[in-house]
Amino acid sequence: MTTRNDCLTRDAHDPLAALRDQFDLPAGVIYLDGNSLGARPKAALARAQHVIGHEWGKDLIRSWNTAGWFDMPKRLGNRLAPLIGARDGEVVVTDTTSLNLFKALAAAIHLQAQHPERSGRRVIITERTNFPTDIYMAQGLSSWLDRGYTVKLVDSVEDIPAALDGDAAVLMLTHVNYRTGYQHDMAALTRLAHEAGAVAIWDLAHSAGAVPVDLHAAHADFAVGCTYKYLNGGPGAPAFIWVPQRHQAAFTQPLSGWWGHAAPFAMAPDFAPTEGIGRALCGTQPVTSLALVECGLDVFEQTNMAAIRAKSLALTDLFIELVESRCAGHPLGLVTPRDHARRGSQVSFTHPHGFAVMAALIERGVIGDYREPHIMRFGFTPLYTSFADVWDAVEILKEILDNGKYDIAAERGAVT
Ligand SMILES: *Cc1c(COP(=O)(O)O)cnc(C)c1O
Repeated sequence: MTTRNDCLTRDAHDPLAALRDQFDLPAGVIYLDGNSLGARPKAALARAQHVIGHEWGKDLIRSWNTAGWFDMPKRLGNRLAPLIGARDGEVVVTDTTSLNLFKALAAAIHLQAQHPERSGRRVIITERTNFPTDIYMAQGLSSWLDRGYTVKLVDSVEDIPAALDGDAAVLMLTHVNYRTGYQHDMAALTRLAHEAGAVAIWDLAHSAGAVPVDLHAAHADFAVGCTYKYLNGGPGAPAFIWVPQRHQAAFTQPLSGWWGHAAPFAMAPDFAPTEGIGRALCGTQPVTSLALVECGLDVFEQTNMAAIRAKSLALTDLFIELVESRCAGHPLGLVTPRDHARRGSQVSFTHPHGFAVMAALIERGVIGDYREPHIMRFGFTPLYTSFADVWDAVEILKEILDNGKYDIAAERGAVT
């Protein structure tokens, strides 16, 4: 049986423990929601002050050159690339995940339309349980194109092989499911898609900075992801898009804004895409927000994804063990896979009053979140979550459940 002292011992031997000091976490809070909004790197406050006070305040428009504002999407993309198995010149940090997915889908459709044997394919396959915006973007693009494209929703990973038939144009999947924490086998599913003649797009929203990803080893075609979750970029921080070198020459997307132009300041009346990853850009970026992404990446550069993964699995294993032993007898159901290979960096449990229990946890300073139906979601971020945090969070959960200290009529805010 694990004790709180065992947890303290594990913290004392944790090679990542010192990194917690680089984050500002309020006293009395155990933050288990870094999968939704990462905690703030301490450095982000000074960086924001510098961008606003000095770069904007003093240098004004000169900062596009002198402070490197214009190059930031590419520079940050190159710094993010090693975390996802991408190479230099293949990633830009820009726009939102929804928008980048739209570009990747359009590029994938174009790629297929150019192919002599695949130009008639009209089906985009994804999962019904995918994060809704991914499905909505695919539906929006398909219906707007008005060329017979449809979105096919599969109900389980076992249904994917059969769905990959002669009409399949694109397989678009989220690597780690936002609700269950289930992690797909990216290499195997990409291989299946390719064998069926489909293009594979991966959404790394719950993977980048959370689990090791090797896009090149998996031979993926396109990828997108968030920086405000596990990468700690800040609320609404710009997302990223990956286009491997082998697809860059053929890459075309309909949001052909001036930042994707070969000579943006020539102010020519016709669009001509720039070479390389720059063609995934659209227009002017939210500079202040973009600049803060670097503070999160700075922390990742002090460690590696193997160390992060080892601690993530230890934290999630411990959480599962403690909830199942300390809270035995309560109607909790583990939704997240026990199999390490299929687990992301979160743990989800169902409870018939999941929303009310989560509200009570948050009231006590244990911040997770709630997703329909009945799912309490706990994110584990090895950069700033300790083993003692896991113990303490479970003890508070146990107390709430043992004493029925939750209000089943708890009011819901606009954001759960
Ligand atoms: C968080 C998340 C998004 C968010 O998209 P936005 O455009 O930033 O709102 C998209 N897809 C998945 C799978 C996510 O988990």
